[in-house]
Amino acid sequence: MNAPCIIIGGSHAASQLSINVRQQGWTGRIMVISKESSLPYQHPPLSKSFLSEDKLVEDILLKPAEIYTKANIEFRLNVEVNNIDRERMEVTLNTGETLSYNKLALCTGASAIKIPLSDGNLTGVHYLRNVNDAIKIKKGIKAKKNAVIIGGGFIGLETAAVLKQQGMNVTILEAQNSILQRAVSPEIAQYIMALHQENGVNIITSSMAETLEGTDSVTGVRCASGTLIPAELVIIGIGVTPQTALAEQCKLATNNGISVNKYALTSDPNIVAAGDCTNYFHELYQRNVRLESIQNALEQSKSAAASIVDKNISFSRNVPRFWSDQYDIKLQICGLFDGYDEIEIEQDLEKRKLNALYFKKRTLVAAVAVNNPKLLMQAQAAIKAQISLNDEQIQQILMLPN
Ligand SMILES: Cc1cc2nc3c(=O)[nH]c(=O)nc-3n(C[C@H](O)[C@H](O)[C@H](O)COP(=O)(O)OP(=O)(O)OC[C@H]3O[C@@H](n4cnc5c(N)ncnc54)[C@H](O)[C@@H]3O)c2cc1C
Repeated sequence: MNAPCIIIGGSHAASQLSINVRQQGWTGRIMVISKESSLPYQHPPLSKSFLSEDKLVEDILLKPAEIYTKANIEFRLNVEVNNIDRERMEVTLNTGETLSYNKLALCTGASAIKIPLSDGNLTGVHYLRNVNDAIKIKKGIKAKKNAVIIGGGFIGLETAAVLKQQGMNVTILEAQNSILQRAVSPEIAQYIMALHQENGVNIITSSMAETLEGTDSVTGVRCASGTLIPAELVIIGIGVTPQTALAEQCKLATNNGISVNKYALTSDPNIVAAGDCTNYFHELYQRNVRLESIQNALEQSKSAAASIVDKNISFSRNVPRFWSDQYDIKLQICGLFDGYDEIEIEQDLEKRKLNALYFKKRTLVAAVAVNNPKLLMQAQAAIKAQISLNDEQIQQILMLPN
């Protein structure tokens, strides 16, 4: 019974879970084991302000060290868990040590999907998942003129906005016929695309990057069409994959992520999981989802912490939420765009405000707001209630603020 609660991971989910489990009344040891070399830090700034401002990782820590010390939470940094033995309730570290656990939490997150466009030795080519990646990109911005971003998802678009504002020539290559295809409706994708084009970013859709040119440093990106786009800085952002290797090794149930129930319990009652690495059945949308957002990581961590002390807090009816900052806009999304059959959009292009509501049989399933946080609060409540809205209620939610 003296073995600690061990949390594997070092980011949003692990940080929140460690504090929550103490708050929930766990009196034993809590140990966070993280591959990272610093305490958990915020990820959103990595594709936003961190790239343009003179910031260090210490400036974006999620919580100051004293908060963890006060809660008596131990950190093992620069250490990786290589193996989990569920029968013996032990984890093995890359240092060779074996540690017993009483409860275990997997917060292993996701890693960037890699594509082999060169032999991997060219400098100036980056993925963006952690602070070390962001630091390398930051150095690149200072020294280079032309950037190509491969992938028109949120991370690629946010990074494009920063690089453009830093005076670089920026091209986004997107393999699909639209940016943000997995993430938003065509109307919003079009709005964001126009925003980037107005700011001078060159967006080429239906275009596959095929190879990276250069000898030591990258000099350009060759597309499948044969076109060569000059670039001394290339950022690849084509999505992430859940880090499930440990879960698979110890034979926990997985399915595009570590399978968890609505209380964040895995198929082993002594092991919880939270954050980008999980997959669960969403009760509002009646399907399995794997979400990549801060809100999901925080809410699941709360449930996971409760489960560790045998309490129940369900997260599976929570409305998914996500935000993105690009140029002078804050885009906020709530809900999922599942099978919507009607859209209501209200926009004021001059004031850069937009509200969009997505309905399935008159029931709100998702909403998008640009520079209007109030809409999201109202929409979230309506999505959760799952009731049909009448025209008056719809118009009230849609109304643009002054
Ligand atoms: C550049 C960028 C910008 C983003 N912007 C936004 C945004 O604006 N809004 C939003 O909602 N979301 C945003 N996200 C997504 C958000 O950051 C993630 O949803 C969130 O970080 C998930 O947290 P997590 O703890 O589940 O996983 P991760 O952040 O992936 O962290 C997992 C951690 O576990 C560690 N780890 C993995 N395996 C092991 C092991 N075996 N042993 C030890 N440690 C291990 C990893 O090193 C890592 O530190 C952004 C992400 C990035 C990369």
